[in-house]
Amino acid sequence: MTSNGNENHEPCSLPLPVSEEQWQAIVHNDASYDGTFFYAVKTTGIFCRPSCKSRVPKRENIGYFSEAQHALSANFRPCKRCKPTHQRLPDEEWIATITNYVDQHYHETISLSVLAAISHGTPYHLQRTFKKIKGMTPNEYLQKIRIEKAKVLLLRSDEAVFEVGKAVGLSNIPYFITLFKQRTGVTPEAYRRGRNQH
Ligand SMILES: [Zn+2]
Repeated sequence: MTSNGNENHEPCSLPLPVSEEQWQAIVHNDASYDGTFFYAVKTTGIFCRPSCKSRVPKRENIGYFSEAQHALSANFRPCKRCKPTHQRLPDEEWIATITNYVDQHYHETISLSVLAAISHGTPYHLQRTFKKIKGMTPNEYLQKIRIEKAKVLLLRSDEAVFEVGKAVGLSNIPYFITLFKQRTGVTPEAYRRGRNQH
């Protein structure tokens, strides 16, 4: 960057490097991250939602913005395919309140009826709409978040496996281990052992 003597350069004028979690969301077109950030491709000058089905750019060529407006201010153009500047539809807003709730309360007992109650909908309508927007059921989303949080705890703490399960809302340990294995291909113990091999 050239210096123009102005040390207080605009915040958000350049995209920030994406985290590993954001990168994975981009690679997997993960719609559950839509609205949480936008990624901008420096080589093309275009920005996208995480779920965009366009070809995945090289990681070193992308950065992220928390708001579409920031990307526009930095002279990136919205992608014609995923239309990142379009307002979210009412259903998307509704489902976003659910995912925000799950993201913060994953360690509590959460059922479909709890989610329906906090979002003022019926369980039936919630289940259908959630699946339509996110491509998975609310319960699948909840378990996905729980396993992601468990992975972080396993790598960053020395808490016993049952403590980790409890901390993410899966206090039935055989179930926690089964679910973890289903989603990651390894047991929590093996996953933790692997951390020293990276
Ligand atoms: Zn796009």
